Formats: sequence, C-alpha cells, structure tokens
Amino acid sequence: MTPWHVQLKEWGALRENEPMSRHTTLGVGGAARWYFRPENRDAAMRAMKCVPVALPLLPLGRGSNLLISDDGFSGLVVDLSCLSGIFCEGKRVTAEAGVRMNKLSQRCAETGLAGLEFMATVPGDVGGGIAMNAGAFGQQVSDTLQSIEVVKTSGESAMLDVNVLDMAYRRTRLPKGSMVLSACFELQSDEPDAIRKRIRTMRKKRSATQPLEKPNCGSVFKNPPGDHAARLIEAAGLKGYRIGGACISDKHANFIINEGQAKSSDIHKLICHTRQTVAQRFGVRLEPEVRALGDKL
Ligand SMILES: Cc1cc2nc3c(=O)[nH]c(=O)nc-3n(C[C@H](O)[C@H](O)[C@H](O)COP(=O)(O)OP(=O)(O)OC[C@H]3O[C@@H](n4cnc5c(N)ncnc54)[C@H](O)[C@@H]3O)c2cc1C
Repeated sequence: MTPWHVQLKEWGALRENEPMSRHTTLGVGGAARWYFRPENRDAAMRAMKCVPVALPLLPLGRGSNLLISDDGFSGLVVDLSCLSGIFCEGKRVTAEAGVRMNKLSQRCAETGLAGLEFMATVPGDVGGGIAMNAGAFGQQVSDTLQSIEVVKTSGESAMLDVNVLDMAYRRTRLPKGSMVLSACFELQSDEPDAIRKRIRTMRKKRSATQPLEKPNCGSVFKNPPGDHAARLIEAAGLKGYRIGGACISDKHANFIINEGQAKSSDIHKLICHTRQTVAQRFGVRLEPEVRALGDKL
C-alpha cells in the first residue's frame, strides 16, 4: 500500500520540516513535521481520508492569529490557501476557505452586497475567519454566516448550519478535527459606492491606530466584558515593555510586535507577564485571542 505521505504528493505540495515562521504574520515558530497544501477542495477531502487518524492536524489560513512554539509542531499542517472560489447567487455568497477576507469583502462591494465590510480590514482567510468568528467595527462573521461545509478526519464532508456552531465573540465551536472547506453568507443589497466608502473609512481608522509596519498577530487578548484589553495594559504601564525581541506596541497596547529577532518564547513570556501584571493591578484575567500551539497560555 502506498504510504499516506507519498499519496499526498499527488494532490498538492507536501513538505517536511517546514518552518512555520514563514506562515505566520508574527514571523516566529519552529518547523512543522509535515506541511501540505492541497491543490483544491477535492484534494483536501481525499487527503483527509488517507492521513493517519492519530496524526495531529492544524488547518492553516494566513497564520494571522497563530503563535507556534519554537519547538514547532509534530503533526500535519494543512494550508488551505488554494481553495479560492467565490460564488454569488442573489444575496447569498459562498466562499471557499482559502479566499482572503479582504478579497471577499471587495468582491461583495463590487456586487452591491453589504455586511462583510469589516473583512477588508482583517488579515486572514475565510476559514480562519470562521474558526475565530473574526470581527471589527461592530460587525462579525456570525452576523451574516448561514452555513459552512467541513471535512472531517474520516474524509467525509458535512454541511453545518450556523446555529450548531455556538458562535460568540471570537469563538466558534467546530467539530473536533474538522476543517472548514467553504462558508455561505446571506448579505444585504446596497449601493457599491456606499459600501466602498464604509470600507475606506474603516481602513483609515485601522492604519491610524494599529502598528501595521512590524510583524504582529493583531489583538493579543480578547476584550474583557465592558472594558478594553488595550486600556488595561496601558494603565498597567506596559506600553513599550519588551522581552527579547518582542515588545508591547507604543501605538496600540493590545499588540505585541516582533522587532525582528523575536523568538516565539519571547512573545509567550511577554503574554504571560502582561496577564500577570494586569491581574495583579486590576483583578482582571485577560484571555488570549491569539491561538498558541506548543506552549500553553
Ligand atoms: C494586523 C492584524 C489585525 C487584525 N485585526 C483583527 C480584527 O480586527 N478582528 C479580528 O477578529 N481579528 C483580527 N486579527 C486576527 C486574525 O486576522 C483573525 O483572527 C483571522 O480570522 C485569522 O485568520 P487566518 O486565516 O490568518 O487564520 P490562522 O491564523 O491561520 O488560524 C487561526 C485559527 O483558525 C484555525 N483555522 C484556520 N483555517 C481553518 C479552516 N479552514 N478550518 C478550521 N480551522 C481553521 C487554525 O487552526 C487556528 O486555530 C488581526 C490580525 C492582524 C495581524
């Protein structure tokens, strides 16, 4: 019988010991034992069928919310960026997991469909956006999401209604071991110019308030109920605080930036220090928004 990893090479790009620093916006992280980029949806499904069930899986979007340990990941990273179709039917839009949220937002604006404007300001792919219930400017994925298609480790696909995903602020409950293949949104009609104008306004606010010139992962912590993580971190005097090559941004206290030479462990230590300091000063336990793999946060 053909070994699974030989089989995968027929359905996409397979690499061994792939540095994850290449695939995360923080630019840190050790090697993934296996890294696979299926060439399309069918290839992703076929691959799931032949990968050993015990092998840990990490579905990967654009790595804009991931902190991977310096020791790397001993399983299989599945990069879904080749799943790039967008299909419109009336007010319903279906996008495959690897479509950049920015691209989807633009496409909807051109088509005169409103509701995904915020996606023009959030890095990452549709799959990652679903997994995180990404949001900004008072909009979030769950506002317009109708259903998703997932593939399970068995290789079977399933359509899931949004109601079974228990989505909340930056939270989605996906079935264990499943990967999102596509998502269907129901949007509102509006004038393309009006939609584009809202996108421009959001983008302006973004670049004025966020340190986008250095590697980062967006907001490190979720906002606690009724407050802002950035306010608490700033009030704790942590702006500009650094550990190794990682630093709390002067521009936005909920951003940790990689000054160039940061290791994953520097960022990890800085997150732990921030949590501890804010808890001691204000009695608030900050919950990380960034997904850490390897080191527990
Ligand atoms: C500059 C900057 C600004 C940001 N601003 C915002 C913001 O305003 N609002 C916001 O919500 N987020 C923000 N983020 C965080 C990030 O962009 C979002 O969380 C985004 O949804 C992550 O998408 P991704 O494709 O990069 O996912 P990844 O980082 O690749 O993955 C994130 C998680 O999703 C899982 N995942 C990815 N794809 C799939 C899939 N197909 N199926 C199942 N699971 C999957 C991964 O396994 C991982 O657990 C920002 C990040 C940066 C760098």
